[in-house]
Amino acid sequence: MTSFAQHNFANQKALIRVDFNVPLDKQTLAITDDTRMTAAVPTIKKILNDGGSVILMSHLGRPKDGPEDKYSLRHIVNHLIKLLDGATVKFANDCIGEEAIEKAAHLQVGEVLLLENLRFYKEEEKGDADFAKKLAALGDVWINDAFGTAHRAHASTAVIAQFFAPEKRFFGLLMDAEVAAAEKVLHKSEKPFTAIIGGAKVSDKILIIENLLERATDIIIGGGMAYTFMKAQGGHIGKSLCEEDRLDMALSVLAKAEAKGVNIHLPSDSVIADNFSNDANTSTAPSNNIPDGWMGLDIGAMACQQFTNVLHRSKTILWNGPMGVFEMSHFQHGTKAIATAVAEATTNGAFSLVGGGDSVAAVNQFGYNDKVSYVSTGGGALLEYFEGKQLPGIAAVNS
Ligand code: AMP
Repeated sequence: MTSFAQHNFANQKALIRVDFNVPLDKQTLAITDDTRMTAAVPTIKKILNDGGSVILMSHLGRPKDGPEDKYSLRHIVNHLIKLLDGATVKFANDCIGEEAIEKAAHLQVGEVLLLENLRFYKEEEKGDADFAKKLAALGDVWINDAFGTAHRAHASTAVIAQFFAPEKRFFGLLMDAEVAAAEKVLHKSEKPFTAIIGGAKVSDKILIIENLLERATDIIIGGGMAYTFMKAQGGHIGKSLCEEDRLDMALSVLAKAEAKGVNIHLPSDSVIADNFSNDANTSTAPSNNIPDGWMGLDIGAMACQQFTNVLHRSKTILWNGPMGVFEMSHFQHGTKAIATAVAEATTNGAFSLVGGGDSVAAVNQFGYNDKVSYVSTGGGALLEYFEGKQLPGIAAVNS
């Protein structure tokens, strides 16, 4: 594999798999968060500046059965033109077939062609080789810059690789940066290395926790999943979120951590509510002694301090998942306190990587996105990377 940065794309048609799966307003279909688009811009610009042309392919949303206007990539063309400083962006109403072939063939140096949503074809997610071959025929080289879908073995993210010689496959600049940040945390972490794992369910995060037990010095567990750990240890958690079938798993994580000398930090206290609502009555309680009829919806003030102390002495930080129901204003204090502590630790020299939809949303919402070292564009992909799995979208470029 040649390095993308070193390759000169002059007079080449570069077929790039990007992740333009951006959220659109249901009514107006305007883009509500363009992070994924802006993240791909440096890769596109490098090729155009070299004197090449670009063919972009992506999915958008989850169309069920063929084309649906609300999932058309047509809606993002004007914004793409703006992000590319007025470059010519053409659009093909179908990602394969005559129109796409024709428009790709006539693409001039400095121009961009955006193909219609790949997922209008079932073949994309099935990883169909014939479909991948048709896409591959449109470009001279293939670039994977879609970290957000790197954990999928789809036609455009992995299967397509076989139709390009190794020297014609590249990672884009976004993919390079994502992999470098993840590698730094996973394999080159300076210690102490603290992983903050939050969110709703233990079952979703168990594999990442197990893998982190091999690498981290400290693991902070917050959010709804903390209560399964509390109950497993004999605590009283009222009507807090709990996965009864994961109690043994929680105990086994604690035992493994102890055997390996990894410190597990659970929230000592919680903000509790009598209802799952922002208008509920609230109080605070020890996280292992929540009264009947009440539920923990955020970490408490003591837990904020406890976690902040751990983060302040950390040199590497990974954050995935919120500390509470941060979507409701009365239960976002804990997540905000952690975001602040991660930002402060970063200012003091720690390397911090934030990934996973909700923690990224929280960091953005509280205005800390430029105060952490790296904000990943990958949710599921980043999780699987940290679970120790090989991602098909990365393996395909390297093979
Ligand atoms: P995940 O997708 O697993 O990272 O979980 C994120 C979701 O967990 C968010 O929507 C939070 O509102 C929710 N969550 C966090 N803490 C709690 C809690 N204590 N009780 C219920 N839900 C929670």
